[in-house]
Amino acid sequence: MLKSHSCGELKKEHVGQTVTLAGWVDRRRDHGGLIFIDLRDRQGIVQVVFNPEVAKPCHEVANQMRSEFVVRVSGEVARRPPGTENLKLPTGEVEVTAHDAEVLNPSRTPPFYINEDEEVEENLRLRYRYLDLRRAGMQENMMLRHHMVKFIRDFLDAEGFIEIETPILIKSTPEGARDYLVPSRVHAGKFYALPQSPQQLKQLLMVAGFEKYYQIARCFRDEDTRADRQPEFTQLDLEMSFIEDEDILNLMERLFIALTKTIKPEMKVMEPFPRFSYTDVMERFGTDKPDLRFGLELKDLSDIAARSSFDIFTSAVAGGGKVKGICAPGCAGYSRKQLDDLNQLARSCGAGGLVTVALGEAGGGGLDELTQDMVRSAAAKFLTLEQIKEMAERLEATVGDLLLVVAGDASTVNTSLGALRQEIGQRLKLADPGTLAFAYVKDFPLLRKNEETGYWEPEHHPFTRPWDEDVSLLDTAPGKVRGKHYDMICNGLEIGGGSLRIYTTELQRRVFRLLGYTDDEIEERFGHMLEAFEYGAPPHGGIALGIDRIVMLLARRETIREVIAFPKTQSALDLTFNAPAPVTEEQLTELHILLREEEE
Ligand code: ASP
Repeated sequence: MLKSHSCGELKKEHVGQTVTLAGWVDRRRDHGGLIFIDLRDRQGIVQVVFNPEVAKPCHEVANQMRSEFVVRVSGEVARRPPGTENLKLPTGEVEVTAHDAEVLNPSRTPPFYINEDEEVEENLRLRYRYLDLRRAGMQENMMLRHHMVKFIRDFLDAEGFIEIETPILIKSTPEGARDYLVPSRVHAGKFYALPQSPQQLKQLLMVAGFEKYYQIARCFRDEDTRADRQPEFTQLDLEMSFIEDEDILNLMERLFIALTKTIKPEMKVMEPFPRFSYTDVMERFGTDKPDLRFGLELKDLSDIAARSSFDIFTSAVAGGGKVKGICAPGCAGYSRKQLDDLNQLARSCGAGGLVTVALGEAGGGGLDELTQDMVRSAAAKFLTLEQIKEMAERLEATVGDLLLVVAGDASTVNTSLGALRQEIGQRLKLADPGTLAFAYVKDFPLLRKNEETGYWEPEHHPFTRPWDEDVSLLDTAPGKVRGKHYDMICNGLEIGGGSLRIYTTELQRRVFRLLGYTDDEIEERFGHMLEAFEYGAPPHGGIALGIDRIVMLLARRETIREVIAFPKTQSALDLTFNAPAPVTEEQLTELHILLREEEE
């Protein structure tokens, strides 16, 4: 090694020792005679002192040093003079008195500060990712990711799982997105597809008898760029044979509790992980991925609303719809503008409008003291004081709170209140950033109808097993069939999902037909799966969890790009490499590709 110690490890115990260090110049301070260099490597920072009276040539070298130069220094570890210790720095009690120094490589002035945690425009960070990754925050994120993946590997190894790699060049596996295609040179006109996930491969591994498989797998999906997605991302992909769904859910629950306690002990995990049915979670939170770090559950007010003389309420209920609400605690004083914004949000989710009921003013005592003239609402004159109080009680509201009420068809009511709940949660900072609230959502419908094409589409993917008792509905009422599918959510994000799988040819073929595939297409695309199921396929199931999202949650970052070493931009560009990029005519010819003019 070019160094004997790392910068970050030096402590009082090393005083008197001669050490050789190598790293980057974090800061350089010239105090007339003395030059101080904060020398940084992966482990941390230590102060190095260059004294012309101790070593003149060495001091001259230090004179040349600038930020981010790569340097090597030898010297003696000494206690810092009393009063000059830096308690914020783990090495802050010592410094190294340099005897010898050399610049291994100078550096141009970086386009942003490496030694400061200042906001830098993201495209600039991505353009110079290697410098961005040199910054302390990103180093921490990468270390956290490393520790997390290592923990997962050790945990699953101890549970008897084996890690098996599966191909990247394969045939398309349907997960609902567009495939990335790779043209074949050897087979003109044919293409590999990059896997959207190793779904079919892991199922084949179950047929092969491995029983417990996992992989830290790269997945590729050519989706239109939406908020926090990447064209390629990493999953913990797992499959087991001879199991029920709870076996997988319990395993993952144990894994994530142990993982957080070990690598992020300062974070709180809510235990045990609750299980919700899809219907339940939609009724109570208006979304299938609620943030469970706070309450504000949706409550059905239809019975009270039906007794009012407010037309919007009564006609919704009479028409088979619902009136539901949530309480925004302490928000009775909201301005016209604030209420308008909430109204806008409800409308953007399809609601006809939002009815707000402000209950007096904050600090105005209990509900008993509420009088009609304290209530501010467009609906006030159509509701009796009793009805208002009844609604408030159901929503666990009191004086000073704001009731948000939506009327309409059940699903629109749920979705819009779900969005409002999330919004209020954010505005009032109800979600503790140091808490992880994991949960499972189960019992999704197996299929949903694509209104455009008229075809049924899988809610999860076509390999998901329907409930045994619902199989008979496949031909008569496909929309009523429930799937053995489960999602894992955390803090308002979907972090993964899985299912028990179909393992007989007959049932798998039935589902493919229902999805609109012709028998020829089924053979062409999935013949290998149907065939494999005829050679003793065990009952099996699995799950896949988004590693990037989980690291993001543990690192308390806002986007997954913060925890991926070399991510793409929102428009799928790699700014360091400038990819995608054109290729040569020879390359295209070899691949039998003729580019055609983009049609206008
Ligand atoms: N392959 C699925 C996915 O990527 C997960 C699974 O069913 O195991 O979402």
